Amino acid sequence: MLNRRNGLNKVARVGSRRSVAPSSLAAIRCYSSQPDPNDVAILGGGITGLATAHYLSQSNPNRKVTIYESSPRLGGWLHTEKVEIDDGHILFEKGPRTLRPAGNGSLTARLVNQLGLEDETIFTMKTAPAATNRYLYYPDHLVRVPQPDRKLGFMANATALANTFTYEPAFQGILGRLALEPFRPARDSSVTDESVGDFFARRIGRRLVDQVMSAVVHGIYAGDIYQLSMKSLFPSLWRLEEESGSLVTGLLQNMVEGAKVPAKELEFMMAMKQPYPFGKEFRKNFRRSNVFTFRNGIQQLVDTLEASLKKSPNVIFQLNQEVTDIKNTEQNVELEAKSSTEGSTSKHNHTHVISTLSPDKTSQAASSMNRGFLKLPVCPTPTVMTVNLYYRTPNLHPSGFGYLIPLGIPIDQNPERALGVTFDTAYAAGTPGDEDFVGPMQDTVSNRGTKVTVMLGGHYWDGWSSHPSNDEGLQMAQSIMERHLGVTEKPAAHSVNLNYNCIPQYTVGFEDRVSKFHDELSLRYSGRLRVAGNWVRGVGVNDCIRSAWDVARDLDTSGLTGLEYIVKPKQWLTVKVKKS
Ligand SMILES: Cc1cc2nc3c(=O)[nH]c(=O)nc-3n(C[C@H](O)[C@H](O)[C@H](O)COP(=O)(O)OP(=O)(O)OC[C@H]3O[C@@H](n4cnc5c(N)ncnc54)[C@H](O)[C@@H]3O)c2cc1C
Repeated sequence: MLNRRNGLNKVARVGSRRSVAPSSLAAIRCYSSQPDPNDVAILGGGITGLATAHYLSQSNPNRKVTIYESSPRLGGWLHTEKVEIDDGHILFEKGPRTLRPAGNGSLTARLVNQLGLEDETIFTMKTAPAATNRYLYYPDHLVRVPQPDRKLGFMANATALANTFTYEPAFQGILGRLALEPFRPARDSSVTDESVGDFFARRIGRRLVDQVMSAVVHGIYAGDIYQLSMKSLFPSLWRLEEESGSLVTGLLQNMVEGAKVPAKELEFMMAMKQPYPFGKEFRKNFRRSNVFTFRNGIQQLVDTLEASLKKSPNVIFQLNQEVTDIKNTEQNVELEAKSSTEGSTSKHNHTHVISTLSPDKTSQAASSMNRGFLKLPVCPTPTVMTVNLYYRTPNLHPSGFGYLIPLGIPIDQNPERALGVTFDTAYAAGTPGDEDFVGPMQDTVSNRGTKVTVMLGGHYWDGWSSHPSNDEGLQMAQSIMERHLGVTEKPAAHSVNLNYNCIPQYTVGFEDRVSKFHDELSLRYSGRLRVAGNWVRGVGVNDCIRSAWDVARDLDTSGLTGLEYIVKPKQWLTVKVKKS
């Protein structure tokens, strides 16, 4: 075990290797003795914080876990509003609305099982219009994104595809560009990262990026495709170009030889393949579904987590407590928290701290330890306004999941700076017995009308000092509905939500910035402060749960920061997909 003096010597050596300014070294106190993680503070009571608490108590019920949440409610962006209307109610989702079963979804499925939510889950089947019909708005109408519809025969699907690629301006010419992709030169080996937009513009053409792909990026990140990092968001494709010189050639090779997957991911996939005691129906429906949610909306997941954690005597909730300082001391980590109700501050000691806050907020809270080192801008977080609208008239839009608006629509034709519209009546049954869904009803109103969410802002609002008011947001959403879908009806209910700094942007150079953040965190907290959340494994709810699972599982390994998956070199293994 290192004493304090030795610890400092060790830091000085590391510091000189990393060229830390000598005057700053005096400020660093690195206590590298590692107490057992038996008293853990979690910063943030969103899905990542709650799931982390769940996994920590599951692995060691005697461990003390304290969740610090600055607001009066738990759940973070998972926020469902119940609106009484006519003879029943409808649900509005202010943040996320559905989860996907693929990838990290298998971990969420286990969480659903552990929380006893299997019978509360609503599955939208792969055959449902919400799964098969996704639209783009380009240039002045909705275009169905080419995708096989399982309810149609081969000829009908082939004709629909041919028509789209021949007559729709959004997709015209794209097949030709794809055919030429193998002949495009590979990137220069000196390029260490590139935007997703520049990458695909180089390989397939700007048209695909501006008219199609930028819309998808609007839907997931509310971000600008010309700023997000290809290396961080699509590491496999980034690698494929490096190895095969072409995406098309590389993908064809993968089909024959198997695809390359990071060893850690393969390990996770194998763990998720282990037998698990799901209910028979749940397992079957999960496999056949495209997306899922819950009877009481997405918030039911965090409400049930909260209820489950409250049963544990070792889990403590500290609501209205904003953590303002995280100090590494010889014995412990000392937190300072400010009460938002009383304005008073209090100090708390823990063996370890897991921050599920954004890197900016974590840096702010770690300010007394970092003397500016951690104040590296890791990822910007734009603001998104969601406007939920409910109309009494049903079927005011084509059947499907919704539509996204690409960058190719100039601002004078998109003055509201809309990102897209989700058709929320599409992911839960409107009438009992609808075969496109399995599970309970979500809205109980007997004659359900049309429910949509209009998403505004995101990267379009970067640098804005103020944002539209709720009234302006409502007007903007209604004007989108009228211009795009011809809806002039006044909504019977609405909810306008301004989500400040909500979605982290993995912009070009993200990995390098995370790497510096990791080094500083490691140097100053020696593994006692770790991070998890939507900037670590991906921005989706499933990714947050995965990040929580990872950080909880690794807590007993000393010296980690939670960022190892991003910063450590990956070992890529070949996986052959077996046809079953
Ligand atoms: C509009 C919108 C739509 C989305 N749609 C989807 C979707 O359909 N599907 C999907 O999978 N994902 C979706 N996402 C993404 C997903 O919802 C988020 O990435 C995820 O909820 C983030 O959870 P988190 O717990 O990491 O962070 P948060 O939810 O941000 O939780 C962090 C918590 O920390 C608290 N906090 C902040 N500072 C402090 C402090 N100093 N001390 C103590 N507490 C503090 C905050 O109050 C908050 O409760 C969407 C996100 C948004 C905003």
